[in-house]
Parts: sequence; structure tokens; C-alpha cells
Amino acid sequence: MDRRTFLKSSGAALAVGAMPSGLLAQAQQPAPVLIRGAQIFDGQNADLISGMDVLIENGMISEIGQNLAVPEGTEDGQTAQVIDADGRVLTPGLTDAHVHIMWNDTIDELLFNSPHEYTGAMAAEGARRMLMRGFTTVRDAGGPSYGLKKAIDSGVLPGPRILPSGFFISQTSGHGDFDPRLNYLSPHFTGQLDPAYLRGWTIIADGVPEVRKAVRENLRYGASQIKIMGSGSITGAHDPLDVTEYTLEELTAIVQEAAHWGTYATIHAYTDQSIQNAINAGVRSIEHGLFASEETMQMMKDHDIFFSTQFLSFSVTPEVAGMTGSALPKFLEAQAGAQNGYERSKALGLKMTFGTDILGKIDLGAYQSQEFTARTKYYEPVDILRQATSLNAELFKRSGKRHPYQDGEIGVIAKGAYGDLLLVNGNPLEDISLLANPEDGLGLIMKGGKVFKNTL
Ligand SMILES: [Zn+2]
Repeated sequence: MDRRTFLKSSGAALAVGAMPSGLLAQAQQPAPVLIRGAQIFDGQNADLISGMDVLIENGMISEIGQNLAVPEGTEDGQTAQVIDADGRVLTPGLTDAHVHIMWNDTIDELLFNSPHEYTGAMAAEGARRMLMRGFTTVRDAGGPSYGLKKAIDSGVLPGPRILPSGFFISQTSGHGDFDPRLNYLSPHFTGQLDPAYLRGWTIIADGVPEVRKAVRENLRYGASQIKIMGSGSITGAHDPLDVTEYTLEELTAIVQEAAHWGTYATIHAYTDQSIQNAINAGVRSIEHGLFASEETMQMMKDHDIFFSTQFLSFSVTPEVAGMTGSALPKFLEAQAGAQNGYERSKALGLKMTFGTDILGKIDLGAYQSQEFTARTKYYEPVDILRQATSLNAELFKRSGKRHPYQDGEIGVIAKGAYGDLLLVNGNPLEDISLLANPEDGLGLIMKGGKVFKNTL
């Protein structure tokens, strides 16, 4: 049986579009919620707006003002809920521009040792925890998240909104070529099945025709942006950190295919060469990128590229980051270069996303919130809050018509925006660590007008 027949007959994890939508309950619109007496951080303005009421109806913010009237119940008999903020700070739901929401164990477990449904079962719990940390929208930077997204969007599972990248697009022996076995020969030549492909993680594609096909295949499932593996990595099975992956021609073809669908490509890239190639090819955001020279960072600035790097990953010890074996020396090398990257990008004023890239064992997910405090060495709390709300939302808009959530704005508190809101037990503009400890720091978590946590 060739690979394609196998995929068709097995249905694999990839055929999310084949599920009849009637099997999933349609989400019932939540009852109206009136939040009274909040201080608003609107996602942009450094000044809080005090004494405000916010009304959320049909999942969206419908009114902001003083002394708003409690709305009447809905037609289906639900009564409005009133929440007294008591002067707490109301912020937009948090966003994360770089998660791997399906990656809740080691890659060995996810790809080789466990049944493939284990990945989905773990991701359901991982997504719930992420929402309970206050993250209401995330850009998934690679992994088989289409099915999870569908279950969350339908209201069955709690979790953030997901902008999925789907399959990593990786070259042979690139960062997305996960199989560590050196007796495992290329599927291309041997017809052996690649577990990373079968489980929806990676398409290994080399050369312009193959990368075009890979992007087109990924867009079929609903990728809102394309994730390229463009350089060596810390956790990769084969590629040393200094390796540049893909040619300018291949990158240009990927970007062009994404652009034909009205969206963009982002790239995992550490080396100067890979970042420059990516910028010249038209890639719109750079992931990690910490070894970029000053010249290259200036190119990022000139081309209005988002810099999507992580501060926490290189602030922790290798033990905490779970770095062992071949990953350990690469981690230490990256850590040594990271400092320069942070300082250069800050000095140039690059558009810095809030992205965490926390992956591995599910309990490590809690570190996602520590990114807030890890950034305080470089940024003021208001800058970090903007990164995690309105600035990420600006990046998400680069998906154009492939953006899955176009009914309203994300990352802001404004009339017509999604009812994705948090009440913070204190002022995060003065003490950002409130967000690093969401269990005590967050009194209310609401997504799409639905209350998922309320301790008030
Ligand atoms: Zn990543």
C-alpha cells in the first residue's frame, strides 16, 4: 500500500474535514454578562480608564460606559449575569504567538511510543489549562491542531481560540525531520511511512515543486499561516544549530503559495543567513532569531517583520528546560547568544510578539505564564501587556482572509470586540507578576462571553 492509499483508508489524524458537523453540539450563546466598575486596560493605552461597565452579549462586547443598565434576559430564557469588578483591572484575554498546543509530552511519546489518540487526549487537557492561565487566543506554531480547534470552537472543549499552522514544512534532515533513527531511510526513496507525516506534524518537502505541494496540502485543512523550519535547532534530531535550511528559491515558493491564499509564512530561524533568506523571500515573522546580526535585525525593522522570540526559554537552567543529550550543548550555545539578541531587538524597537514556545511534558505548560516576568528585564509591564494583547493581534491579522476569527477584534477592549476578558486581582501595569501566577492573579476568565472562571 502506498502512503496515499494508507492515508485515505485509515482516515488517519488528518481527515478532520470528514467529520459530519452535526456530531458536535452547536455552542449555545452564553447569557449576557455585565461587568460593573472595572478599571480598563484596553490593550493599547497606558492609562487605565476607571469606573467603567462593560456589557457582553452574544459573545461580543456590545457596550462600554458608565452605569450601564442590566439587560433583559435572552429569548431562550437566560437571565443576565452581573459581575462586580470592584475596581479590579479588566484586560483583554491574553494571546500567545508561539505555542504547540498538541505537544504535551516528549516527541518520542507523541510520535513513536504512544497510540496517536494519546496526543489528542493530552492536548484537550493542555488546552484547558492554557485557557485557565488566561490565554484566550493562540497562534499554534506547528502540530496537528485542526481537530482540537474544531472541538474548542464548537464549544465542546474548553480552550483558547487557535490559529493553526498545521504541518511544519521542513526539508530532509531539517528541524521538522523528527525521526531520530539513523537506520530509518527517507520515505521518499524507500516508501517507508513517516510517523511525523502520518500524525500530522511535518511534511518533509525538498525542492520547489515539493514545497509548493506541501503548502497547498496544509492550506486544505485550514492553516491560517504556514510554519517553515528554516534553520538548525536545539531539539532537532539531526540538524546542528548553525545549519541554514531551505534555499531562497524554496522559501520564495512557500511564501508565494501562502500569499495566493491571502496569508503569510513564518519561520523557525536562528542563523543570520536563514533569516536574511527568509526576509528576502517575503516571510512576515521570524521565530527565535536570536543570532541575527545588527544588519539583519535592521532588515527585519525595514521590512516590518514581527520578531517572535522567547525570553523565558533562555532564562531557565537546562534542567528546568528539560535539555539533555544532544540538545544540551545546543541549548547552552543558544543561551549564550540570546542576551545579544534581546538587547539588539529592543534597541531597534522591533515589533516584539508575546510567544512562549513551551512544549514537552504537560506540567511544563505552567511556565507559559512565567514569560511575563522573564521579560521585565527588558520591558515595562505596559509593553509586555501590549505584546500579549493588541500587538499579537496585529500579527494574527497577517493571516488575512484565512484568519479564523473575523467577527470582531482580538486583543483589545472595544465595542464589537470578542468577549475575551480577564479581571486581574490587582494592577498588572504595576505588578506584572499577577499574570505569572494566574491561579491567584486572575479573578475572572471569560472567552466569547462565556465565563470559565469567576472567584468574585
Ligand atoms: Zn516552536
